[in-house]
Amino acid sequence: MTRPLRVDAPPQGVYSGPVLDPKTLLEPLGLDALYVTRPENVRYLSGFPHPEDAQVLLTLEGAFLLTDPRYPEAEKESRIPAKVLRREEKEALLKELRGRVGFEAEHLPYAALERLRELSPVEWVPTQGVVERLRLKKTPEEVATIRQAQALAEEALEHALTLLRPGRTEREVALELEFFLRRRGAEGVAFPPIVASGPRGALPHAGASEKPLQAGELVTLDLGARLGGYASDMTRTFALGRVDSTLRRAFDATLAALERALEALGPGVSAKAVDALAREELKRWDLDRYFVHSLGHGVGLAVHEGPGLSPYSEDTLEPGMVVTVEPGVYLPGVGGVRIEELVLITPSGIELLSRFPRGWQEV
Ligand code: ZN
Ligand code: ZN
Repeated sequence: MTRPLRVDAPPQGVYSGPVLDPKTLLEPLGLDALYVTRPENVRYLSGFPHPEDAQVLLTLEGAFLLTDPRYPEAEKESRIPAKVLRREEKEALLKELRGRVGFEAEHLPYAALERLRELSPVEWVPTQGVVERLRLKKTPEEVATIRQAQALAEEALEHALTLLRPGRTEREVALELEFFLRRRGAEGVAFPPIVASGPRGALPHAGASEKPLQAGELVTLDLGARLGGYASDMTRTFALGRVDSTLRRAFDATLAALERALEALGPGVSAKAVDALAREELKRWDLDRYFVHSLGHGVGLAVHEGPGLSPYSEDTLEPGMVVTVEPGVYLPGVGGVRIEELVLITPSGIELLSRFPRGWQEV
């Protein structure tokens, strides 16, 4: 029923995660198979560039990609064997399953689970984070792709800087960022770019609005490119001319918190402790209560993935992890600052994947 998983050299352009022996994953979990539906996980295991329309079935004999006749070339686009199946063919295949079959409880909708139960009387076992755990530490190839995505995003930011002028709307700047990235070969943006100026800068996840930029404001740009399935993520805050000293102080405090966290970051370090250091620094400035989100997150096939850098995190940083460090100060009704770096944890410390200057800059 299945072809073996072993693939010696992944086909050009479809490499994402490492080649995996499903047995090493399934046996410790006491599973006979795992039905993978979360798109990032499907892409990680197969390299298939249309993971929203595909699943991966891991069995003790091997792994294969399931998709439908809209993707007749799936065999070429996947580095594991692909089956292009019509609906009834796929249902027939699922009916053949035996034993204990895991599904992704955080992703599979309840109605889809009900349908699977009707189709196949195996024991459907909820699992959480099985493939996500593998994704925590990146291979050198994955890091190279993220590095490339980040480099593209920095070119886009450089371009956007020339557009930061009073009168131009946030949305125009965001569209330029998107257009630039697409034109330069990115699959797209990793997330809709945030362009937040003036008082809107106090909304950490403000989308770009029709608000025109004005002199004397801070403007925060948070952007990522998507390349080969992988995301990048970086934030910079600029001043439009001279700004009020309250805003300048918020910037200096944020920068100090960022640098304190970066100094502490490295392998074996507790993610929670790094988050606490950034908060401690902001407390010295009496601004800690204006830092309302976690310090950072992993970046990979998803923009937000493990490990988390937050007060609630139980994660320890390990070489190969790619994380953001992004303290912010958000002063309601006044304005906000966020500075976000993208960092690779290395065996001896860290490497900054984001290279764009982070200091105070008036445009
Ligand atoms: Zn960001
Ligand atoms: Zn981020």
